[in-house]
Amino acid sequence: MIKITANDPHRKSWLDVADDSDFPIQNLPFGVFLTADDIVTIGTRIGDYAIDLAALHQLGYFEGINLTDDIFLQDTLNDFISSGRKTWRAVRNRLAEIFDENNSELRDNQEHRKNILFNIDQVEMQLPVQIGDYTDFYSSKEHATNVGTMFRGKENALMPNWLHIPVGYHGRSSSIIPSGINIRRPNGQTIPDGSDTPVFGPSKQVDFELEMAFITTDGNALGEPIPVNEAEDYIFGLVLFNDWSARDIQRWEYVPLGPFLAKNFASTISPWIVTLDALQSFKVESPKMEKPVFPYLQSTGKKSYDIHLEVYLQPENAEAQKICSSNFKYMYWNMSQQLAHHTINGCNVNSGDMMGSGTISGPTPDSYGSMLELTWRGQNPLKMNDGSERKFINDNDSVIMKGYCKKDGIRIGFGECKSKLLPALDLKF
Ligand code: MN
Repeated sequence: MIKITANDPHRKSWLDVADDSDFPIQNLPFGVFLTADDIVTIGTRIGDYAIDLAALHQLGYFEGINLTDDIFLQDTLNDFISSGRKTWRAVRNRLAEIFDENNSELRDNQEHRKNILFNIDQVEMQLPVQIGDYTDFYSSKEHATNVGTMFRGKENALMPNWLHIPVGYHGRSSSIIPSGINIRRPNGQTIPDGSDTPVFGPSKQVDFELEMAFITTDGNALGEPIPVNEAEDYIFGLVLFNDWSARDIQRWEYVPLGPFLAKNFASTISPWIVTLDALQSFKVESPKMEKPVFPYLQSTGKKSYDIHLEVYLQPENAEAQKICSSNFKYMYWNMSQQLAHHTINGCNVNSGDMMGSGTISGPTPDSYGSMLELTWRGQNPLKMNDGSERKFINDNDSVIMKGYCKKDGIRIGFGECKSKLLPALDLKF
């Protein structure tokens, strides 16, 4: 495997990058955007510049790297992801060279720059991959314990399987949308407290779930598991993920087959996929397994990532207010264990599949990754700066998630995952 040279912390770009930017030259994420001329292209980002990789390729900047002519002239990253980790690495390394402050090749070529560089405000970010399959895990012990305590009491908070398997379910990919697209409060069936007859109407308990999601490449043939300590070779990168949830719909429908319409009405992701390669220096030990696990789940070395996460709630015409600070490193089961478990029965994964972490709650009440936990099922409403209170998400509230790693002066971030909750459709029957 070739070396990662793109992460050199001393490198500076000839493009302007603000000190607190999520996108220094060491990040080089991948995304898909629409230019002002209505052209869809695969790109990367440095500072507030969107960089057109198809144009760079056409102008010969990737010479020597084995890429098909149209690899970046696509509206999804799936084919590029399929080309494998070696290629992703070579392209990131080359990008770092092209935009290095000491490299004049593109820096001093105004004609090329005009074709390659866009202001981030002038492009429209798209969904970066066509997500074939989407799986959501339930891998934060704090979250599972909080929810279990609320619904089953402290003694039975964790289900007997929880410390043995990374619990997950298959979700739906059609309603996964990029940051910036607004969603609607779902209508559905709910069961009033103490009643045995359901009612129909807008959900009264729309919630966010603070998650991260990883995007896979084609891994294994059907029937063949991915070994836990090779799993990272099959992970392209990570995005922020808001797994919108309607708690009241969930409560009525989830037995016996799990969440259905409570979860599949919308999920929002941040549009730039930050590669695992870019996150190498932020790896940390995973929490200690509290019970022995089967060998296929025994990951060795650092397989967790220190990514600081924040959630902001923004009422209509008001300032966004921070309501949660958590960290991806709190996850009890890491991504390698999740992918090993997902494939141990021979289930195959494809390029562009997405796996959600599950709600990422930390040990303290201000680190809980959902309104359900932050307000303890509505018992302790959040106080907003404008004097209003929130038990769950109100109509026209926006939920904004942010995430970044920081170490030795380098900050690698994910940008924003933002969506506004519009009122429910008034359905007439
Ligand atoms: Mn979830």
